[in-house]
Amino acid sequence: MITNVKERPIHGMLENVMRQFNHAADIINLNSNIRKILSITNNELIIHFPVKMDNGEIEVFTGYRVQHNNALGPYKGGLRYHPTVDIETAKALAMWMTWKTALVGLPYGGAKGGLKIDPSKYSTSELERITRRFTYALGDNIGPEHDIPAPDVNTNAQTMAWILDTYMTTKPPTERAKNRHVVTGKPLGSGGSEGRDRATGYGVFLNIKFWAERKSMILKDKRFIVQGFGNVGYWAAHFLENEGAKLVGVQDAYGSIANDNGIDVEKLFNYMQQNKNSILNYPDAAALDKDLFFELDCDICIPAALGNQITAANAGKIKAFLIAEGANGPTDVEGEEILLNRGIGVIPDILCNSGGVMASYYEWLQNRNGEYWQLDEVMAKLDKKMKEVFDKVYDMGQEREGDMRTAAFMIAIERIERAYLQRGIFP
Ligand code: GLU
Repeated sequence: MITNVKERPIHGMLENVMRQFNHAADIINLNSNIRKILSITNNELIIHFPVKMDNGEIEVFTGYRVQHNNALGPYKGGLRYHPTVDIETAKALAMWMTWKTALVGLPYGGAKGGLKIDPSKYSTSELERITRRFTYALGDNIGPEHDIPAPDVNTNAQTMAWILDTYMTTKPPTERAKNRHVVTGKPLGSGGSEGRDRATGYGVFLNIKFWAERKSMILKDKRFIVQGFGNVGYWAAHFLENEGAKLVGVQDAYGSIANDNGIDVEKLFNYMQQNKNSILNYPDAAALDKDLFFELDCDICIPAALGNQITAANAGKIKAFLIAEGANGPTDVEGEEILLNRGIGVIPDILCNSGGVMASYYEWLQNRNGEYWQLDEVMAKLDKKMKEVFDKVYDMGQEREGDMRTAAFMIAIERIERAYLQRGIFP
């Protein structure tokens, strides 16, 4: 559960993504009518539904699904279970999904949603009932060729399995089997893909590796810190450690730890399994004040938790020379300006964490075609695709004095603009 980060303001994410969008749109001189369309989300769903708790009481939950744009294909994006989920956050995250899928060149649009809950407060059977009832309430607002959810903060393969089962159960028997691609990020035995679990973190690692190659740097002995030790943070750290880099600081929902001599990634991961998924009191590192986390002495900083973590308040104190955004929207516009002025590299979220949705696409294709791909096949595809997208963004970023975010947005927006200009607007 990743809430530590909750102390800092989470609002303003919509303003943030809109500023990023408008900045890039100005530079490419985006068609003014298409700017109007892309500035707003297509559909916004807010649903309230009751669920019976273990103690027999009824609790009413609030769920969201925002579909921003589907010009390039079905809506795609995760479901997040977190107290900060609200309509504004869902809108912002849905927009980032549109830019992400367009940047990577996937035949998808962008969506996001979730529940405003702290899942650590519920039992597994309560979470199952909540998820199933949420899925039922979403009804045909999701669908394998219409809107395809996936895991995000505090949701995982198990959550996707419940969604799949509930969705299939509500369809006529003859329809059920062909609906497996209604969600991605499923467990392997239920139509999931090899590699989907590690794909986002692996993508973060690849981006760091490609960036270092461009700077003629090696990753061995580079020191890195990770905010959020969930699926993204853990796997990114795993692959970086394999390359000889050293994890020196971690922050999660419960606390912050540091060790100059290095924190063993697998050991910390195993400790968390025994410790209610928390890094708190990890014996081989010192506890750290949470406000000092981003000031830790390191080379690479990986925010892999929530939005708006790097802001004007801390960007000036960051020691890393590279920020690799595993989370969506971790750096706000003011924070980024300070980083770029200080010559710190920023690999933007829509590129850096796109390995997840790439692997989701591979899973979706396998389900649609009745295929199972091997792990090495999936990883090789990820590698190749990520290199292609990275090179494009990096090269365009060079023309923009290192601003890779604006470059990434320009590529994404132009792709969508082209589709609109070719098709026109109905009627
Ligand atoms: N939640 C992930 C993201 O923000 C994955 C989305 C997906 O696979 O559809 O990119």
